[in-house]
Amino acid sequence: MPEPLVFDLSKKGRKGYTLNDLDVPEKNLDELIPSELLRSEPARLPEIGESEAMRHFVRLSNMNHHVDKSLYPLGSCTMKYNPKVNENNAVLPGFTGVHPKQPETSVQGCLEVVYKVENILKEVTGLKGVTSQPAAGSHGEFTGIMLMRKYHEVKGNERNVILIPDSAHGTNPSSVIIAGYSVKEVKSNEKGTIGLEDFRAKLTDDVAGIMITNPNTLGIFECDIAQIADMLHEKDALLYMDGANLNALLGILKPGDLGVDILHINLHKTFSTPHGGGGPGSGPVAVSEKLVDFLPVPAVRKTDHGYNLEYDNPNSIGKIHGFYGNFGILVRALTYMEMLGKRGMRRVSENAILNANYLLSLLKDYYKLEYDSPVMHEFVVSSQWQKEKGIRTLDIAKSLLDFGFHAPTTYFPLIVKEALMIEPTETEAKEVLDCFAEAMKEINEYVDKNPEKLKHAPYNTPVRRLDEVKATKELNVKYKFPEDEE
Ligand SMILES: *Cc1c(COP(=O)(O)O)cnc(C)c1O
Repeated sequence: MPEPLVFDLSKKGRKGYTLNDLDVPEKNLDELIPSELLRSEPARLPEIGESEAMRHFVRLSNMNHHVDKSLYPLGSCTMKYNPKVNENNAVLPGFTGVHPKQPETSVQGCLEVVYKVENILKEVTGLKGVTSQPAAGSHGEFTGIMLMRKYHEVKGNERNVILIPDSAHGTNPSSVIIAGYSVKEVKSNEKGTIGLEDFRAKLTDDVAGIMITNPNTLGIFECDIAQIADMLHEKDALLYMDGANLNALLGILKPGDLGVDILHINLHKTFSTPHGGGGPGSGPVAVSEKLVDFLPVPAVRKTDHGYNLEYDNPNSIGKIHGFYGNFGILVRALTYMEMLGKRGMRRVSENAILNANYLLSLLKDYYKLEYDSPVMHEFVVSSQWQKEKGIRTLDIAKSLLDFGFHAPTTYFPLIVKEALMIEPTETEAKEVLDCFAEAMKEINEYVDKNPEKLKHAPYNTPVRRLDEVKATKELNVKYKFPEDEE
């Protein structure tokens, strides 16, 4: 039976708590809160006992896939584990009990957290300034492009184009367009990296900069990036590096040393904080010397008297988030950073690279490898051999669910047909990767043995094949209360 909505479990008058008799005089709510701020009718909330509420959400969590249940090899998304100690620190009362409008002197510890995170990010990126305000990777991209725009405005450069390779993450062109630039595409070469010839040809005087995902979405390191930086800087254009997946480079290479001017980092990937439905994200942006002055306000500064917030910066692009960003996420990321230390950070990347290359070696006899270059933290194989026998990437992805694994990213990057983009992450054990590879091999055997079976997978999940288009075209999340029906 499908799990009912919590509203359907509601019974009028049922409560999830018991309260003792009051030992203070009773007061009416309108004596405490101005009446214009009070509801005229009670909110329509489900009325349900504690056990029923708990069981409802536990059942729902079991219907879903999550990192605490099994491997989640979603390429580019870095679904690595979220250490539980991060959560312990994030709920310390000193962090949860503060209000963003408290005076600076009373939130010194919180400001120290922001300051420390930004400093560690400066260290690992080799860049000069950091803002931790952006709430997601894509928000960081937008912030970065606004910084690029400000740079050219101040210098009086007339620029309206940003170059983007054809392997780019989809958020890159979106951020560029929202920031008011137009996109020119640069073709990848046969190795899967940026084609230098095409880049040279497209680097015209109207180019503000380039956005490069590195390692790119094929998991391949852009080895010409330093040369690209030099060519851009000769024309006073800027190098934006999408560093969402810094778990491939941490402790090994500092993007600042390559000539990168702007970089965003996803704390909810590299630094182990939860993704999406698991909590808000955070996409700090790091910049080179020439852009430091334009960073958003307020900035956290350290003085002889402690930490303070600096709002006074006439060159800043302004505020891009309420207060200082998603603060609770910074607490989690700092916990992880402090836990790892310098050596641990390097091991993150070494293990991410080792795991990806190990898994690739187990799969490449069964699934086609379009670009055979050494990979970093992730790789892309394709189901083109299976497609010739009538089985699509979608069928393979759905079949994996029956083995208890989340599917990899599919049909992306766009330059690989029938793509399966796989990122095991650094925190998976060898046995888990072996098991995943076995599942992929078994599915491949079924392509010949029983293709019909694959076409109707999954069989063991709470719901079978869904109409994915319907959910976006006819989304309906409005609950109809029985008492409202005629
Ligand atoms: C995840 C990702 C993004 C976008 O980050 P969000 O936090 O999802 O907005 C951008 N670029 C790359 C390469 C990514 O992997």
